Amino acid sequence: MKEKKIITADALIVGGGLAGALMGLIHLMHHKTVIIIDAFNPHSASHVAAGIVNPLQLKNITRAWNSDTLFSFLHDFYPKAESFLGCSIFNQTPVLKFFSSQKEENDWQIAASDSKTKGFISQTYKPHLPADLISDFGFGAIKSSGWIDIKTLIKSVKTHKNTQYLNQAFNYEQLNIKNDNIVYVAKDSMLKTKSVFFCEGIGVLNNPLFKPLKLTPTHGEVLKIKTPISLQNPIHRSGFILPLGNNTYKVGSTYNNTILPNTTAKGKTYLMQTIEKNISCKYEITDHSYGIRPNVYDRRPIIGQHPKHSNCYIFNGLGSRGASQGPYYAQMLYDLITKGKKIDPIVDVGRFF
Ligand SMILES: Cc1cc2nc3c(=O)[nH]c(=O)nc-3n(C[C@H](O)[C@H](O)[C@H](O)COP(=O)(O)OP(=O)(O)OC[C@H]3O[C@@H](n4cnc5c(N)ncnc54)[C@H](O)[C@@H]3O)c2cc1C
Repeated sequence: MKEKKIITADALIVGGGLAGALMGLIHLMHHKTVIIIDAFNPHSASHVAAGIVNPLQLKNITRAWNSDTLFSFLHDFYPKAESFLGCSIFNQTPVLKFFSSQKEENDWQIAASDSKTKGFISQTYKPHLPADLISDFGFGAIKSSGWIDIKTLIKSVKTHKNTQYLNQAFNYEQLNIKNDNIVYVAKDSMLKTKSVFFCEGIGVLNNPLFKPLKLTPTHGEVLKIKTPISLQNPIHRSGFILPLGNNTYKVGSTYNNTILPNTTAKGKTYLMQTIEKNISCKYEITDHSYGIRPNVYDRRPIIGQHPKHSNCYIFNGLGSRGASQGPYYAQMLYDLITKGKKIDPIVDVGRFF
């Protein structure tokens, strides 16, 4: 029998979505080596996500959970990640909230003078808007917002010289956890590392080490459209429209607790209504896709150390706000390992065991 090639690295990461990429990136930025095992899935949340980062909850114009901390961290982190990886990831173009009624406009003005929210509302940003954008009640601009190019981030981490990327399913039975090292028998190779990080999104539901986790996944649909309108900013009204360049836009998203293995006619209709509420020109749908968000019953990320295996870690539960929450909590997990810093109990995986 052919002997398996041995691959060693500082960390083994299971799952190559946003969580796995961020965990890998933090290791790489500290001159460590990583192995990422990922069964590529076009319906992973990261593959369809818009990557919008927005410090406000737009439904009732409140500050999103922990946004002061998360946004000051991400504004430092993503530019550093861009220079480390040598690519552009962070589009710092403010999201515009379009109002559907006079009441919404009034509520926005109240939020603009409320001490809790005013720091995230710009009164001076006035971009030029195309005539075929419907704006009967005006709009507000959100400070600190923008969007992350998640696909480019993932690709750059996967192809970094200190990453070994294996596109295959992880078989939990082939994992051998010892006190001082981890051995995993992969398809054509034997992997040896110091620690393993589980970043499988909803795939964690099949992970025997983390059975007690309470995930409440949501199904989300998005459309890609081509339209002659020339928009620079992501806009939000009953959903978002995100400019991707070349007259291409991503439109999203739906939220559904029923997890279907497909897109739906209802989802498409809803997203078309979002488009038609916002733009008055013609458009062509070029793609309709879905992904499953790894939401958690208490809406908080899940990070930390396995209660029995001190070299097994989890980074999951990024829910609907992975691009905002991911950097800060990936760093928190890294600091646990390298500096012994405590995990905030509100996000600690220990709450499930
Ligand atoms: C429609 C939609 C729109 C969204 N828009 C936004 C947005 O605008 N802003 C924002 O911040 N967030 C958004 N999100 C949420 C965001 O996508 C998630 O928070 C984030 O992508 C979760 O990343 P993850 O790596 O934890 O999970 P995933 O993206 O699901 O990645 C997990 C990866 O692990 C792999 N995997 C799992 N099990 C195994 C195994 N056993 N072996 C090998 N590989 C495995 C999977 O194949 C996958 O590649 C959106 C989500 C959806 C669905």
